[in-house]
Amino acid sequence: MPVVLPGSGVSRGIAVGRARLLQGGQLEILEYALPHSHIDAEILRFQNALSAARRQLVDIRHRIPAETPDEIAAFIDTHLLMLEDATLASAPADLIRSRRCNAEWALKLQQDALEKVFEAMDDPYLKTRRDDVAHVVQRIQRILLADERPLGESEDGEPMIVLAADLSPSELLQLHQLQGVAAVVTERGGPLSHTAILARNLKIPAVFGIERCYQYVRDNEPVVVDGNEGVLLAGLDAGMLAYYRGKQRSQRRAHAALRHLKDRPAVTRDGVRIGLQANIDLPADLPAVRRAGADAVGLFRTEFLYMNRRDLPGEEEQFRIYRDAIRRLKGLPLTLRTLDLGADKALGTEISAAVSPLGLRAIRFCLKELHLFRDQVRAALRASAFGPIRLLIPMLTTTGEVEQVRRLIRQYMLELDQAGCPYDPAIAVGGMIEVPAAALCADSMSRGLDFFSIGTNDLIQYTLAADRVDAAVSYLYDPLNPAVLRLLTMVIDAGRRAQIPVAMCGEMAGDPYFTRLLLGMGLTEFSMPAGALLEVKEVINRSDFHKLKGRVAKLLRQSEPAVIAEGLETLNRMP
Ligand code: PEP
Ligand code: MG
Repeated sequence: MPVVLPGSGVSRGIAVGRARLLQGGQLEILEYALPHSHIDAEILRFQNALSAARRQLVDIRHRIPAETPDEIAAFIDTHLLMLEDATLASAPADLIRSRRCNAEWALKLQQDALEKVFEAMDDPYLKTRRDDVAHVVQRIQRILLADERPLGESEDGEPMIVLAADLSPSELLQLHQLQGVAAVVTERGGPLSHTAILARNLKIPAVFGIERCYQYVRDNEPVVVDGNEGVLLAGLDAGMLAYYRGKQRSQRRAHAALRHLKDRPAVTRDGVRIGLQANIDLPADLPAVRRAGADAVGLFRTEFLYMNRRDLPGEEEQFRIYRDAIRRLKGLPLTLRTLDLGADKALGTEISAAVSPLGLRAIRFCLKELHLFRDQVRAALRASAFGPIRLLIPMLTTTGEVEQVRRLIRQYMLELDQAGCPYDPAIAVGGMIEVPAAALCADSMSRGLDFFSIGTNDLIQYTLAADRVDAAVSYLYDPLNPAVLRLLTMVIDAGRRAQIPVAMCGEMAGDPYFTRLLLGMGLTEFSMPAGALLEVKEVINRSDFHKLKGRVAKLLRQSEPAVIAEGLETLNRMP
């Protein structure tokens, strides 16, 4: 009997292979009372396991593929630092001595104690740290228990699909480096976890959040992971497996067939040129921008430069980063979004923006912590002397904020003039339109801004009052909700009236399912992860901009998301 287990598809693609049930997160940890004479030996056993864990991590660190974002190496560095920290390096040894217990149990006690501390803090960043502690503790426990079944190794050369309770980024890297790991499935974790980001970067199909997946799948049984649909399928007969293998082959062919589009412009059949730009998180993503043939970097999420470090990057450091990035782009524009901290993006330093997505985050936070804004904007201005840089301000809500930002930028320009520092005096300053108030008042917002970039990820969450990281309300988070579509139309139309460019840089822009809808709404600039660009270009090149306008206008008069979805599917099927 086939079993279909739904979860969250965090990395696209289809994989067919044999299930490999990893015991990660499910280690059976028992307590043993030790005689006094065994304590020193047990502490030595614990210290040896710590050293082995360190060796494993250093080894993984050395074998990280060249193009992996620096952010990933930083996660492993964090785990290495944790192994040095007294809370994990010496506290368990003290517990072995005081409780006279085995090392595995001492680690469990220490982990429980740390979890209580993290829970009391109620901070999403520390929650990530809590997961990191769990990953590091498990690594040591696995060594202590000699649970050394090689990850990802198949008996008959078939690709392996790993099922785990949870996976750390370093474990995923390890799985990737061992041949034969075709996909991963976990019980925990969501699309915004670091492991999910890594799976997408490594192009490993992944479905997370399938509760109790262990209960339905036997070790070594043939299974299918469909990262597009977010499902794990088990109990399939030979015919069904052949069907999915065929699907997998045609996806690979389709992807390869898109490569020829790289150097072709994105132009609709009726000759409308569409701008396709790339979103990046770190300078390490720049090679992918050029490989995809993007017209520009439409969104550089600079907050990632501030993460996984103990200090803050100052003006000089940022200037060098932005200048190097603009040089590497060789004439392509770089849209630098100022610090968008807060909600699910937090720092490990004493600087903390609001945890609530409605609180003091993004530009609100920068306007309170002006030294951060000044350092960043001055760095960006100085880098603008080396190539086309645009500034993008996140989470603008009122025209008052726009005016304040403009005043500050003028002030920083004056300072640079006085210091004799060159910069581009005509630098474009755009606003993220991601708060419903800004969308509703887009006409007046446009007066102080040189361009708009629509942040659908936030605009959808705020319009529908559905926290984007809360799975419990994800059923409400629907880009096709008519309220969202009306706001999008208002922003695009306001931009046209004001004669300023309107781009979209939220995830919706990179999903080919929405491409024709957005074209029909009049959108002509899309910014997306580089990996999505060719697929979107392929849809654009076989679409007719003016025909779509009429059809989409009709669709937008509908009030039921399901009816809109049906109409969109018809649009998408058109040749
Ligand atoms: C958005 O909100 O759509 C966006 C692009 O920004 P972020 O996802 O970084 O909030
Ligand atoms: Mg946003």
